[in-house]
Amino acid sequence: MITRSAELKHISGWQQELANAVTDPAELLASLQLDPGLLPAAQLASNLFRMRIPHSYIARMRVGDINDPLLRQVLPIAAETHVTTDFVTDPVGDLQAMVVPGVLHKYHGRVLVITTGACAVHCRYCFRRHFPYNDTNASSQHWQQALEYIQSDSSINEVILSGGDPLTLSDQRLASLVTRLQEIAHVKTLRIHTRLPVVLPSRIDYKLLEWLGNCTLRKVLVIHTNHASEVNTELAEALTKLKHADATLLNQSVLLHGINDSVTAQRQLCERLFSVGVLPYYLHLLDKVQGAAHFDVSADRARHLIKDLKHTLPGYLVPRLVCEEAGKPSKTPLT
Ligand SMILES: *Cc1c(COP(=O)(O)O)cnc(C)c1O
Ligand code: SF4
Repeated sequence: MITRSAELKHISGWQQELANAVTDPAELLASLQLDPGLLPAAQLASNLFRMRIPHSYIARMRVGDINDPLLRQVLPIAAETHVTTDFVTDPVGDLQAMVVPGVLHKYHGRVLVITTGACAVHCRYCFRRHFPYNDTNASSQHWQQALEYIQSDSSINEVILSGGDPLTLSDQRLASLVTRLQEIAHVKTLRIHTRLPVVLPSRIDYKLLEWLGNCTLRKVLVIHTNHASEVNTELAEALTKLKHADATLLNQSVLLHGINDSVTAQRQLCERLFSVGVLPYYLHLLDKVQGAAHFDVSADRARHLIKDLKHTLPGYLVPRLVCEEAGKPSKTPLT
């Protein structure tokens, strides 16, 4: 008979942390000593898109500060329940770009695979907050179809694992997927879009490093950080391990009103990222998703910000300011 403690041995530390993520707004407000009057709105907004925050991310927030830039990314608030014209459920045309369940083929040479709907954290501005993951992720019954599609098109040389967050999947599943991708001769690069190293650095454990280190494809890891105070020692250590596994490390951010929409915030983020071995890649204008209008920064303000940023940083630390438009052959640069 398998005892409960024997079963628990098969659960990695990060999986335990993932399961323990805070989903109750009351618990979050209490742990940060915030006004309990915020609770009804938080509960209402959490009914639309559930709150979810790992303890390790909460630990980086300032106690008692409602304006903390990490808290504001993840705290459900009343503004999310407002309906705004121009803010829609599928702002980037994902559903029309889906070639087989879970595979988005928008751009030449690369496909994006929605491997799972699960994330370790629920970012309130997420452009996929309304995505119908249950019908459209490539996991379980659809892996085979996704692999067949990639196999059948020899122009595809890069496969991007996305989601949700691909690193919420078990190492066993990721290792078998990567093995199968490696068997396709025209696939040269594996790219992983993930926020897990940032919000749950313990995810970068020896099991992950084992399959990643064994992977013979070129490896690119694009993390998602929006503010310098997200970058702590644990993340720095996780990134060092990923570097040793031969991965190129890049960052993408979303420009968020009141969180990182100043030259100082952007400069600090880019310098901090560089100090831990990561280059800024994209700075995205907010995708106009229903419930996130209060995070929006206008294209004009964004352009000015980048212009000023160029005056204070070396060119290689200035992210490319882009937006995504449905039906276009690449992200659209804003110059
Ligand atoms: C953003 C995106 C990519 C990656 O684009 P890059 O410019 O190569 O970073 C690929 N496929 C889809 C569907 C995307 O949305
Ligand atoms: S981690 Fe990425 S996919 Fe998940 S909620 Fe945040 S922005 Fe959305």
